[in-house]
Formats: sequence, structure tokens, C-alpha cells
Amino acid sequence: MMEEGHAGGKGRKGFAFSEMCLLHETGGHPESKGRLRAIVDAIEGTRFSGPLEMLRCRSASVDEVALNHAVDYIDQVKSLCEAGGGYLDPDTVVSQGSFEAAMWAVGCVLDAVTAVMDGRCSSVFCAVRPPGHHALRSRGMGFCLFNNVAIAAKYARKRGIGRVLIVDWDAHHGNGTQEAFYEDPTVFYFSTHQSPLYPGTGMAHETGKGPGLGYTLNCPLSPGSGDEEFCRIYDEVFLPKAHAFRPELILISAGYDSHRLDPLASLRLSTQGFQGLASRIAELSKEVGAPIVAVLEGGYNLSALRDSVIATIEAFP
Ligand SMILES: [Zn+2]
Repeated sequence: MMEEGHAGGKGRKGFAFSEMCLLHETGGHPESKGRLRAIVDAIEGTRFSGPLEMLRCRSASVDEVALNHAVDYIDQVKSLCEAGGGYLDPDTVVSQGSFEAAMWAVGCVLDAVTAVMDGRCSSVFCAVRPPGHHALRSRGMGFCLFNNVAIAAKYARKRGIGRVLIVDWDAHHGNGTQEAFYEDPTVFYFSTHQSPLYPGTGMAHETGKGPGLGYTLNCPLSPGSGDEEFCRIYDEVFLPKAHAFRPELILISAGYDSHRLDPLASLRLSTQGFQGLASRIAELSKEVGAPIVAVLEGGYNLSALRDSVIATIEAFP
């Protein structure tokens, strides 16, 4: 019989993964299926402080992906994959299996949202790919096809969650996520990212528009910024605003290319640094009663990625 739990503290740690996400073949690209294999192998060999619930995942429907994407764009990705693959932009290659992989990535994240809304889990880490936070409504870019986190936020809102907080600690700015909620006061988007760096958005003066003004918080960081700078921003800038927002659900765009060993960026977070950020979000989660769904974005040094994901899950409620 299924154990009853409550959102925001009494459920278990969860982990969502589907083999289907390995169908996205990228050749010699740094965003490779080896990333998920490294994480899953490490999960299988780790004993966490509490039990880890493995979520069974499903594919998303086109209607669910269309919560954040134009149907024409979804069709375009599908057709390109059916034709054997190609390039959505110069950085973003797709293979025959990429559409299916992307649909399952979204499905895993939506199942994770359901698991925390039902109280079955207090937190879920979703080891999925392709990543999502650069994907715009009608355009894939920066290794991203569909915006997993943005779709999850819209799905949760549709299912009655009033306020969603999105924390993006990837080294790159999540331009797609920012765009999705720029005028929306019900979804608070917070990003730390290296600047200057791809995609060039995420300046501190970008704070939202219209009713969404004040619900986007960008903290660009100089190359070389590490644990100390991140912790200061979390403690002094982000957490007071996050408390005041009173989120009912916390989504994390969990990118690990901000690790000091990552080959694609020049931030200097340590593995313990990620644990520190995850602990702060876990504390927030308990205080406001909002469960956590973390979704993998970047992270291209496999050992740093593996160790930092384990450290993140360990810190979660
Ligand atoms: Zn990134």
C-alpha cells in the first residue's frame, strides 16, 4: 500500500529517470547520453540518508508540451526527427530519437510534479535530457528542445498551484524560462549565471514587465565567481525575496556547468557549494511548505556532474 505523505516535508526523496532520454543522440557533442549514465550509475551505488523513491515515468502529450510551445514548433521538431535528424540551430543537433526523448523528458518532470503535489515525495530530482531552459516558445536553441521547467510550472499552475518559484543555477541564463514568465506575477524566476556568456540575456535590469514586474531576478556573475559569491547572493538577495513570495512549489533548473571543473563555463562552484545551495533551498522548502522538483540542465564534466547531483539529492528533504 502507498504511504500517505504531505507536500513540503513528510514525503520521501524521489528520483525520476527514463531510458528513453538516451534516444537523443548527439554524436561527439558535450551534451551526451553519457551524462545520464554517469548520474544513474552513481545513484545506484549511493546510500542516501533516507529512502529514495524511483519514479516510473511516462511520455508527455503534445497538449502538455503545448502549454509552453507553439504546436507548429512541436510539429517542426517531430518532422525533423522523423526525417532522420538535423540541426535546430548551430548548437542544437537532433537525431531520429530526439523527439521521443524530449517528450519523455517532459513527461518525467510532469510525473515528478504530480508526485510532490500528491505528497508522495518532498523532492524529486529529474535526470532528463535534452535540457530545456534556453528553449523559446517557437524555437529550440542552446542544446534545448522543449522547456521542461517552464512546461512544469504551467502544468502545476493549471492543476491549482498558486505560486511557483523557479531557481536556475545553471552557468547560462535561462532565456527561454525568463521569456515564458516575464509578465507573470505567479511564477518567480531567479537566475545566477556567468556574464558575459551565451545567450547574452539576464542582465540585472531585466526584472519583469507589466504585472510581472519584480518577479524576475537576475544575478549575473563575473567569470571566476564561486561558492562565496553564490552563498552571499542566496542569503542576502534571493532568500528574503523568495520567502516574501511564499511559493507553493519550487522548481530548480539544476545545471552543473557552474562547477569549477566544467569545460564550457568559468564559474567556480565546488561540489560542496552545490550542496550549500541545495540545503538553502531545502530549508526554504520546509519553512514555506513548498516541495521541490529539480530538473537537470547543463553540466559537462562527468565526475563533477555525478558528485554534485548526489550532493544535491542528499541535501534535499
Ligand atoms: Zn548551461
